[in-house]
Amino acid sequence: MPEERTQHSEDSNGRTGPEDLRGSVATFDRVEEGATAIATLSTKNHEVFESRVRDRSHVCLACGQASVHRFLYRKNGCDILRCEQCGLGRAETMGFDPESYYTSDYFSGQRPDGYADYIGTENILRREFAGTVEFIRKFRASGRLLDVGCAYGFFLHEAKRFFDVSGIELAEDAAEHCRRSGLNVFTGQADETLLGRLGTTDVIVLLDVIEHLPSPRDTIALLVNRLDPGGIIVITTGDFGSLYSRVAGAHWRLMTPPQHLWFFSQASMQAMATSLGLEVEHLDHPWKVVPLSLISFQLTRMSGLRPKRIAISNRLGLPVNLFDAMRIVLRKPSR
Ligand SMILES: [Zn+2]
Repeated sequence: MPEERTQHSEDSNGRTGPEDLRGSVATFDRVEEGATAIATLSTKNHEVFESRVRDRSHVCLACGQASVHRFLYRKNGCDILRCEQCGLGRAETMGFDPESYYTSDYFSGQRPDGYADYIGTENILRREFAGTVEFIRKFRASGRLLDVGCAYGFFLHEAKRFFDVSGIELAEDAAEHCRRSGLNVFTGQADETLLGRLGTTDVIVLLDVIEHLPSPRDTIALLVNRLDPGGIIVITTGDFGSLYSRVAGAHWRLMTPPQHLWFFSQASMQAMATSLGLEVEHLDHPWKVVPLSLISFQLTRMSGLRPKRIAISNRLGLPVNLFDAMRIVLRKPSR
């Protein structure tokens, strides 16, 4: 279990313990780490040096620079690095297969990092999504709308009052649930093949989805091609530059690799949007009504205990704002 591994292999600062250095994959980095750790145990210099050794150079998908990516900490067996240029965070993971991960377990409390009970909290989620639809209509009042990662279709049901809606969802049971409720939803990844079957659209939404994508830049680029000039892309995701994220480090509530792979900051979002020819029309940190069951689920998880479902709190929601999640509206310029 990833959570248990975290507790055994990382200390309270998120640094990795010696047992992790015995990994079977002896890459160059790991040999260096091991040698460093043995030579200069527990000195301050060692910590700085070890961290520098773990820094890497990557071409950043947000700012496009071949830049130093600073090693921050390890979480759930993944190295977390941050682009020095724009602040984009990335989780380095090996062998994570999204198709085998996003099953019904993920939405029903069977995974400590998933949703407590997604279907059980439909009423609260739909109230929240109705607010999101209202927000989107300030930028685009009607037209065609595509929801990428639409889960059980709760957002689409709110949006279809004003828009001609369709969705894409990777989890087969969730997509099937959508179709049974009359929605036009395709199963699969938002790749060229699937998107090629859809027409162009006026609004594309990715609600807490972009951080899960294997390659968000490529996906957004494909989506831009499906967007009519003047159309908008609405994204919600965590803010890696937020105070809470910086203070909490490896313990930040959204620091959950390997399902969260990318951690955008305002600057990295701006950089990626600009390089894809999009304009950032709006960026804020909205209040959100969160099911009490999800709050208790996440608090329990952060305290290191195994989460349990609490039936009564499914019907209750609390307005929450930790100012660590952002909502962005990107516009494709009219020709
Ligand atoms: Zn960058």
